[in-house]
Amino acid sequence: MRSIWTETAQIPRRNPLTGNKRTEVVVIGGGMAGILTAFYLQRHGIHVVVLEANRIGSGQTGYTTAKITSQHNLIYSKLEKTVGKETARLYGKANQLAVEEYGKLIKRYSIQCHYEQKDAYLYSVQESEKLLKEAESAKRLGLPASFVRETKLPFQVHGAVRFTGQAQFNPLEFLRDISAGLTVYERTRVVKVQGHEVVTDKGVIKADKVVFASHYPFVNVPGFYFAKMYQEKSYVLELEPVEALDGMYLGVDKKAYSFRNYGDRLLLGYGSHRTGKAPAENPFSTMKQVAEHLFPQAEERGRWTAQDCITLDGIPYIGTYSFFRPDWYVATGFGKWGMSSSMAAAKILSMQITGKRTPYDAVFSPQRHHLKASALKFAVHGLESVKGLSAGTMPGAINCPHLGCRMVWNRYDKRWECPCHGSGFEINGKICAGPAQQSIPFID
Ligand SMILES: Cc1cc2nc3c(=O)[nH]c(=O)nc-3n(C[C@H](O)[C@H](O)[C@H](O)COP(=O)(O)OP(=O)(O)OC[C@H]3O[C@@H](n4cnc5c(N)ncnc54)[C@H](O)[C@@H]3O)c2cc1C
Repeated sequence: MRSIWTETAQIPRRNPLTGNKRTEVVVIGGGMAGILTAFYLQRHGIHVVVLEANRIGSGQTGYTTAKITSQHNLIYSKLEKTVGKETARLYGKANQLAVEEYGKLIKRYSIQCHYEQKDAYLYSVQESEKLLKEAESAKRLGLPASFVRETKLPFQVHGAVRFTGQAQFNPLEFLRDISAGLTVYERTRVVKVQGHEVVTDKGVIKADKVVFASHYPFVNVPGFYFAKMYQEKSYVLELEPVEALDGMYLGVDKKAYSFRNYGDRLLLGYGSHRTGKAPAENPFSTMKQVAEHLFPQAEERGRWTAQDCITLDGIPYIGTYSFFRPDWYVATGFGKWGMSSSMAAAKILSMQITGKRTPYDAVFSPQRHHLKASALKFAVHGLESVKGLSAGTMPGAINCPHLGCRMVWNRYDKRWECPCHGSGFEINGKICAGPAQQSIPFID
């Protein structure tokens, strides 16, 4: 699959691991979370090695829309209610600081990544009430938020929440430069982690600490991430020419779209669904119709999909992997807001690994329990996983190599998907998204 980022940024290739090695920290995964975590660890004077199964940025980071913002849909009004004002405030602060940190890094290291400051907007064409609540909540929590009636979108909105001073960039150009001084082994898949031994298909690395930045943490026990996350897929259409937008936009209505520009190209996003539960209508056809109506002069230049991990309470898991593995760390569950969340994770984990505490440790701790915030999702998504697992026992089922759920075919994305935990496979069975770590054997 290609995206505008994979087409426009060339990241120099790295060699695979050869033989066995020793280091202070191994980071598993060369996406935004892994590379940034390694970058800050190295800045703290730690010897760090990144292991990447494929290429730097070849995971979900290569297919994001790359808005750098602390505006994470209607999250602040929800978090205030479910986890309390202080936790909501710290969540917002960690992400807003992350947004600002990108700007500082890009300036300090003169990174050429088409970085542009833009305001972020949440809009509705139907009602204002929930947007008003979100603007009030975000403002109360110290974020740069306001409610507005007008936007520069080519249609009338009922209202919008504006966050000022947010940004967008080319994520792979950014990763190319930020990873330049790091030790990264590409085409090196971690197959097992045994205590301090990281076993790959090319050799073994002994490390004092291990960071799982593999998008979906693939060691099932301990940690049990498969029971506390699911994945959601969305669709992106790339159009040209479209006059540059003055902001980045996300709709909050049932049928809502995401808009951001890249030069004279527009990235139109749509169609969020649990991976493995594709909708009846073709999301690309819907987007094409909308594009023809709003931007009749524009032509399609590309299309792709991406997916992200969603936690039960809506807050990422950043911190120690499990009570039973104090030297393992994890960064996952970014809920489609992985640019600011990866930066927040990198800052938090690099402090924790160097023995320091941060005000955000408890907020993102993977060991937290927010029962009120998690109960409904636990029931709904737990049931989906049980259904997928039991369907996996039926005759003729194509089973996911992760836990054996029955795979389903997504005809819009032309991929096999696991309806339980979201693993993805190309038409020929080649693995393209975890938590599964092997291709489907019947095709291999
Ligand atoms: C449609 C869509 C649009 C989005 N737009 C935005 C946006 O505008 N702004 C925003 O903030 N967020 C956005 N997101 C979310 C964001 O893209 C992700 O949260 C983020 O890219 C995840 O980064 P990551 O480093 O955790 O994962 P990845 O980029 O997937 O990196 C994980 C890496 O780990 C490697 N790996 C996996 N298993 C192993 C193994 N066993 N051994 C070695 N390596 C391994 C993989 O190959 C991969 O390269 C969007 C998500 C979607 C679905």
